[in-house]
Amino acid sequence: MPLTVKRPARWSWRTLLPWIVGVVPLACGLAVMNWQIERELRTRSEATTRQVVEHVDHILDNLASAAQALLPLAGKPCADAQLALRSEVTRNAFVRSTNLIQHHNLYCSSLFGDFEEQVEANDYTDGRLWLMDGNSVTPGHALLVYRASDGDRGAIATVDGDHLLTALRLIGPEEALQIRVGNAWMGKDGVVHPGVPPAAAAADVTLGSTRYPFSVHGGYAAGKQGEVLRSHYPALLSLLLALGVVAGCACRWQIRRASSPRAELRRALEADEFLPYFQPVVRKGDYRWAGAEVLMRWNHPREGLVRPDLFIPYAEHSGQIVAMTRALMLHTAQSLAPYTALLEDGFHIGINITADHCRDLSLLDDCRTFLQHFPPGRVRLTLELTERKLLEATPVALELFAKLHDMGVMIALDDFGTGQSSLSYLRQFKVDYLKIDQSFVAMIGGDALSQHILDSIIELSAKLGLGIVAEGVETDVQRDYLARSGVDFQQGYLFARPMPAADFLKALATHPGVARLPQDAPPEIMRG
Ligand code: C2E
Ligand code: CA
Ligand code: CA
Repeated sequence: MPLTVKRPARWSWRTLLPWIVGVVPLACGLAVMNWQIERELRTRSEATTRQVVEHVDHILDNLASAAQALLPLAGKPCADAQLALRSEVTRNAFVRSTNLIQHHNLYCSSLFGDFEEQVEANDYTDGRLWLMDGNSVTPGHALLVYRASDGDRGAIATVDGDHLLTALRLIGPEEALQIRVGNAWMGKDGVVHPGVPPAAAAADVTLGSTRYPFSVHGGYAAGKQGEVLRSHYPALLSLLLALGVVAGCACRWQIRRASSPRAELRRALEADEFLPYFQPVVRKGDYRWAGAEVLMRWNHPREGLVRPDLFIPYAEHSGQIVAMTRALMLHTAQSLAPYTALLEDGFHIGINITADHCRDLSLLDDCRTFLQHFPPGRVRLTLELTERKLLEATPVALELFAKLHDMGVMIALDDFGTGQSSLSYLRQFKVDYLKIDQSFVAMIGGDALSQHILDSIIELSAKLGLGIVAEGVETDVQRDYLARSGVDFQQGYLFARPMPAADFLKALATHPGVARLPQDAPPEIMRG
């Protein structure tokens, strides 16, 4: 129910909240799953890394035992040691070559026998291990060298980088694994890189050997979590998505329900937000205030004062207009009752009713309660009936109208001439007044045909013996024309605008029964 003529903001909390409610469980669920997957990946990464460390330890055990076995031969002539060097290569599956060192010189090789190559002590991490990116025999091909030393004598055993590569690829086929020795490392590409291996995007783990100076770096590439989430938990993911959608929809439904016109009107009724405004009706001749029409205003906590045409149609549609009118009548009676002295005898109070009021006889009680607030005869209650909703002449409706008449309540046909059933209403119900719609009053001074219609309505009411009220009188010309035509009562901005009870009573007290001109009238403070 739009209560303002402004366009509503595109993104209000009402539109955002369902999205938030839908996304929050999804986000929380994803966060928990992500955390669990991260733990799972870390556990896997740690296990794999440990396995690689153990495997490389095992290879190095083989290299170390070969080097230790050959160390006593270091310093001896190569010819004497060569057979032993070759025998270690043959006997040990991981050993590719063995060499002897003396005085920083590699002087004997299992492959070439006598040899001559300078040995740099700094190449070996912890004096024992060197990850080479190839030698003179296989340049660019990774080698891991183990050295056993005794003073300036040493024996070395090498393992082919392919053994390490196989370990990395087979043990952790899905992981990013690197072996690091000192300032060099080798990944699954089999190439020896200088420096420190890059940290893995997920589940980054570094595990050092307790026995040899190397470490293994494990982990997963970016996007691994998402991949596991999609491949391992499709059902859970779908469930989370469904939950999010259901929560979002439920929230949207709840908001819509809570902010539905029906719920809003019920809340407003309970909060007593519907107020009576009074617009005086003046009588012909002296233009004294002969009565007033009660017009409903909604004192909305956020929107301020709301015009009836913005909410009455919803109230009629939802059937809440009956309860709202009852509350309005009570409000009106309570506002006026303490000041009955200000009202002249037979002061008309017009209350707008609709077809909904005529479905049962409860309106009788409402009118009785209203009239009980005033001394007998002080107030003339007039019910103004519009044809916005078609009123059928059911037995209940006919009984209601008959009993209302018995009670002294009068009936006015509102907006007369605008609907299709005005004349049939006249025939079926006993009506006391016709209220000429303001559109006909506005025709005064216009073309001859319009004026003719107005004259016909006035004539008809006279012939039927009905009182006549003209509403929407805004100009002196209209007032004088209606007066000349014998219209009994007039209502319009020319005399006074609708005003709150306090202003109405103040005006009655200061100028009892005297017609107001528009410039004196309290302006109506309302929206729209
Ligand atoms: P209505 O019953 O025809 O009431 C007269 C409307 O004309 C009022 O508008 C009033 O402010 C306005 N009016 C009075 N004099 C002039 C004038 O000189 N010039 C112009 N342009 N307008 C004038 P309001 O108060 O906005 O009410 C609009 C309609 O809402 C009412 O028309 C009536 O149909 C409905 N309404 C108001 N209160 C109630 C209520 O308590 N119950 C029901 N069922 N309907 C109500
Ligand atoms: Ca009315
Ligand atoms: Ca009207």
